[in-house]
Amino acid sequence: MPKYVSVAFEANLDTHYTYRVPENLREGALMGTRVMAPLGKSQRIGYIVREDPDAPKGIELKEIGSLVDKVAMITPPLMKLAIFVSEYYFCGLGQALRCFLPAPVRHRATDLGLVHVVKIKLSGPELEDLYKKCSERFWKKRNLLRCLLLKAAAPDQKTPLLLQELRERAECDLASVRALEKQGVIEIALEKHWSLRDDEAALPNVPPELTEDQKRAVDLVLEKKNEFAAFLLHGVTGSGKTEVYLHIIEEALKANKTAIVLVPEIALTPQTADRFRGRFGSKVAVLHSAQSDKERHNQWWRIREGHARVVVGARSAIFSPVSDLGCVIVDEEHEGSYKQNGEAPYYNARDLAVMRAKLENCPVVLGSATPSLESVRNAQIGKYTLLNLKKRVCASADIETELVDLNQEVLAAPQFGLVSRSLKSALANCLERREQAILFLNRRGYVPRLICPECYETLKCPSCSVPLAYHKRDNQLKCHLCGYTAEYLPPYKCPDCDVNLKPAGYGTQRVENLLHALFPESKIGRMDRDTTSKRGSHEKILGDFASHEFDILLGTQMIAKGLDFHNVTLVGVLNADISLNTPDFRSGERTFQLVTQVVGRSGRGAKAGKSIVQSYTPEASVLRCAVSGDWEGFVKKEMEERKEFNYPPFSHIIEIVFRSKEGKKAYEAAAKVQKKLAALSEGMTGYFYMTEVEEAYPAFAFNEYRWQIHLRVSSVMRAMETLLRPIKPFLKNTSSVKCQVDVDPV
Ligand code: ADP
Ligand code: ZN
Repeated sequence: MPKYVSVAFEANLDTHYTYRVPENLREGALMGTRVMAPLGKSQRIGYIVREDPDAPKGIELKEIGSLVDKVAMITPPLMKLAIFVSEYYFCGLGQALRCFLPAPVRHRATDLGLVHVVKIKLSGPELEDLYKKCSERFWKKRNLLRCLLLKAAAPDQKTPLLLQELRERAECDLASVRALEKQGVIEIALEKHWSLRDDEAALPNVPPELTEDQKRAVDLVLEKKNEFAAFLLHGVTGSGKTEVYLHIIEEALKANKTAIVLVPEIALTPQTADRFRGRFGSKVAVLHSAQSDKERHNQWWRIREGHARVVVGARSAIFSPVSDLGCVIVDEEHEGSYKQNGEAPYYNARDLAVMRAKLENCPVVLGSATPSLESVRNAQIGKYTLLNLKKRVCASADIETELVDLNQEVLAAPQFGLVSRSLKSALANCLERREQAILFLNRRGYVPRLICPECYETLKCPSCSVPLAYHKRDNQLKCHLCGYTAEYLPPYKCPDCDVNLKPAGYGTQRVENLLHALFPESKIGRMDRDTTSKRGSHEKILGDFASHEFDILLGTQMIAKGLDFHNVTLVGVLNADISLNTPDFRSGERTFQLVTQVVGRSGRGAKAGKSIVQSYTPEASVLRCAVSGDWEGFVKKEMEERKEFNYPPFSHIIEIVFRSKEGKKAYEAAAKVQKKLAALSEGMTGYFYMTEVEEAYPAFAFNEYRWQIHLRVSSVMRAMETLLRPIKPFLKNTSSVKCQVDVDPV
């Protein structure tokens, strides 16, 4: 029983602090448990990250106030993973731990099965009145009242407001909340903890006899079932990868072990979940962001208490508190969505999967039809074992692919825009046979921009340096980055040339109109962010398409993967240049992946399929390789280019972005850091390259100017040690400049 413990807090602090544990709390003060402990003037939630036998000498130690949890929320192997995250991704240990627990779990203490909830005693207008009268000086009270007002107005006001949640949102201490209670504004009550229940059942599915290829892959993995080993499973969509995963997991369960399966959020459809539930029944826990707080909370506890032994989830599922891990699977390992965005740490769940397997001595399998060059390289140098599934399991159908040169179409049939002559006749054939088609266009809205015909300047968002898109349905201009909207009131004039700006290009809405005009008899469904904002709408569109309520499914990248429709015999990539032209060294790789995925949609059933890829640069080798299925050719050429410029996978990128409302301040902060890094880099061994301070892309976003520095290094850990850690104070947010360090950006 520890007398002293080290506690890490959720803020981005450099260190953790040592506290004395009062006698009565010693039994529960274990590593991984959360505590309330004094930090500065208030009590804050922190994580016990170490049990210390002795007190550090010469300092007056403070005492732990109370324990938040009854059990350790962070298990020992996860604590090791958190330490790795904080070191590799350059963040505080408490900050790393924060993302290990889902918010609904963090917000509910496990104490006694009871939880503190806040009940509002005043009516909406009374609250509002109080808020208006509250002076700015009492900012904590104001924050609290604002949060209460929001809660009172929220549509989900039936779900209880948790004390912890309120305190986190209002950033204030318990005393301020208690003060409001004394005033009669709220009441704090203890309520029963949510109960656990088993997940819903699915129809059982029986394992098929494995093919030769599958069997070889499974056997190779199982040879290493009790040690760390990484595998790259390369196989086209439909080649039976999921079946391989299912067999490996089955073996792990037989040995009384557990499994984690990561799938991209976008592929986490009921179909996917059912496949695992059908095989492993109530041992499966599914985690995804569309679940309610209560569901996520229940699933997490089912895992923590050992009821669920197979976790299927999006990226944060890598932090699942399973014990006796037997294998980790990452499906579609090349997917960018494994990278955390929005809030630090910016981890990549694919890479953490490998690390977790290493820490827990079990195999990890990364699967993809189009593996990332990072993983391919790891296979080439022998770090990963390559497993191949060469053919589709039920490959009855042939896929014919065609690359259409859009330049020809502009001359021949401009009125049809992105519906080329080939695509038009293929659609007509497909519809005539009562079959279905999927068309992909990664651009929502009606037109993506308004452009000056003289100087090509575009109408931009007032808060971002990106063009505004025109949405015809609601007659609005929208910024797809920050969400700014304005009524569409043409004409808009170019300030330099004094001519009217013209709508240019095609978004999904405009193509939908075109298709209606060309095929008035057929039904068309559109799936993009505008049609899927409501909960469940995503599933509804897919369900309707599966039951042939409509003939053509038109959508953005949402539809590019994971969908399995047997009646789809035609797919089209309407404009492959959109991803090819992004200013990013991975644009070729992304385009190859995208085209390959989309092409894999057609001909999944017994019927022959056709896919059409359209581009203004059909000579691009990436496209040629993708339509002809020449993965080796693509990898060879792309690897050569990466190697020539020392880009990943031959180096690691560390990107440091400085943002500020004042461009000059952001630039100056970046320039100062750049100079310091240049000096420090002289003592650095291994490969090192650093750019000058350059504009980020986009250079202006959310009303902030953004300047960046790129480093390319051979070892991230070494770079952290020699370069970044020594100048950490200069990489912190200040009141006017925000700094973001992104390791291995995607
Ligand atoms: P992937 O994950 O590579 O896309 P799947 O594992 O989903 O491939 O397999 C594609 C289809 O083939 C699925 O319908 C699956 O049930 C079926 N399948 C996979 N392996 C076999 C097998 N050995 N025998 C019969 N059917 C199989
Ligand atoms: Zn904007």
